[in-house]
Amino acid sequence: MKSTSSEILDYHCRLESPTSLGRSGVSQIYQGHALQSEGYKILLKLFPQLKDKLFNEYDVRAYSMKTEARLMAEGVFVNQNLTEDVDWFGIDRFTFEIILRKELRLKFDDQIEWKCNTRVMGLIVDQSLNIVKGIKYRSKKNIDSSSFDMYGDFIIDCTGRNTSSPKWLKESFNLIVPTIQIHFGFGNVTFIGERFRTGDLSLDSATVIGTTVNPPHKNVGFLASPIRILKTIDDSSLGTMTVFSINCVNSEYPPNDSYENLLEWAKENLDIEYYMILKHVKVYSQLIPYRRAIDDRKYVELLGKKWPQNYILLGDAMCTFNPLYGQGMTHAFRHARELGKIFGESCHKLKDISHIFNRRASVITEECWLASTANDWKTPTLKVIETNKNGDVKIYQRDSDSATTNYPQPRIPLMIRFMQWYSHWLLQCASKSGQLATDFIRVVTQQSNPLILMKPTTFFAVIHIALMNYLKDWGLFGGRSARNTF
Ligand SMILES: Cc1cc2nc3c(=O)[nH]c(=O)nc-3n(C[C@H](O)[C@H](O)[C@H](O)COP(=O)(O)OP(=O)(O)OC[C@H]3O[C@@H](n4cnc5c(N)ncnc54)[C@H](O)[C@@H]3O)c2cc1C
Repeated sequence: MKSTSSEILDYHCRLESPTSLGRSGVSQIYQGHALQSEGYKILLKLFPQLKDKLFNEYDVRAYSMKTEARLMAEGVFVNQNLTEDVDWFGIDRFTFEIILRKELRLKFDDQIEWKCNTRVMGLIVDQSLNIVKGIKYRSKKNIDSSSFDMYGDFIIDCTGRNTSSPKWLKESFNLIVPTIQIHFGFGNVTFIGERFRTGDLSLDSATVIGTTVNPPHKNVGFLASPIRILKTIDDSSLGTMTVFSINCVNSEYPPNDSYENLLEWAKENLDIEYYMILKHVKVYSQLIPYRRAIDDRKYVELLGKKWPQNYILLGDAMCTFNPLYGQGMTHAFRHARELGKIFGESCHKLKDISHIFNRRASVITEECWLASTANDWKTPTLKVIETNKNGDVKIYQRDSDSATTNYPQPRIPLMIRFMQWYSHWLLQCASKSGQLATDFIRVVTQQSNPLILMKPTTFFAVIHIALMNYLKDWGLFGGRSARNTF
């Protein structure tokens, strides 16, 4: 907390292992993170003075998605000819957490009591009234110590992707939270480095550069995102400290044993331009892998009034997403803003707030869920686990070896099939239309509701381009289409 900006970065880079810092509860803290524009806006509204601090003390910057980024999805540049600019906020998650904690202390120190190295072990409830009244907690350092009770008017479970809420709610209320988990073989290797000129201006001028995965054909992706301005006199340096993320789905993991091996892998698996960038990097940190992420949604809203009063799940505790689409932090910020709004409306009884929140938060979650899972359903080794409110569990696995597992093939929901089809043609349209590209980026950065991508003019443009391509494919309309994968 008392470290300077460069000490924080130095500590991060010298880390011997990702778990060598006390905050083991956030194992993803060292992975590359992008904060979507809507999250950035929410953050600056809560902490208006933060921007100046970040820029002056931490050498952080916001980058223009219009002029300083080169982002590709399904082979299409998605930020071309934007009609309005969108900020890309460049900071690493490790620094970001420390700064946020410092800001919370400054703003609310007399209202917050911090209990560090402490684990919540269970809930204190009144079963007959269907209320959560508090939590039981214990020191992490002394696991044999007895637990303590803490009571509260309203309790928020924001314990992230490994929340124990489903277990606690089952134990305390015999309540089963319906869930769906999608396993798509996520893997990622992250490191911090300094970018040097490749000699290709189109790459060197893009401070933010990357491509998403596109399963089943392209199961690896790349992102280079600046985290600090680097004061250097070396002309061949691009002058930024950058966090690099090399990602995969379908368990096609990049190696992290040495940079040479990673480069060799990149040469074979990534497009040549990303390999060229990696070849011109001076690496400052360890290569840190992460392999455990899944899509995991808890359908709290389906439980209606069976859900207990005065208790909610927020952020990852309610839903985790494929990290490749960078939605999680902004999703959690939006949940928090919605909760603030509900309390601010001052017309609700405390006992109703958890149900109102569940309804409204699930709308936010649904937006992110559909956008982030549509592609995951294309993974060749997809595994889906569904639990309904009676506790029945169904497991599906694509291309499973029936000799070893007995799981049926997953059936892709119709809505998801349509979204896969629609987003493919939408991207083709967006590559030619600045307005459509802007709408698309606004949705990806969570500034606009995805429904703007279905407005009549866009819908007809998408149908038109799809039809023209089908006609070409069927030979009815001059030449064959360049690409038709559906
Ligand atoms: C590899 C990877 C890359 C990602 N990249 C991005 C990205 O680019 N952009 C983005 O927006 N999101 C990204 N995410 C998702 C993002 O990290 C999460 O969505 C976000 O951290 C969720 O915030 P949260 O507050 O809900 O949970 P967390 O940040 O996970 O925080 C949970 C907290 O609860 C504590 N805790 C857990 N259990 C207990 C307990 N029993 N008692 C007390 N405390 C407990 C933990 O120690 C931790 O401090 C990525 C995730 C991964 C795994």
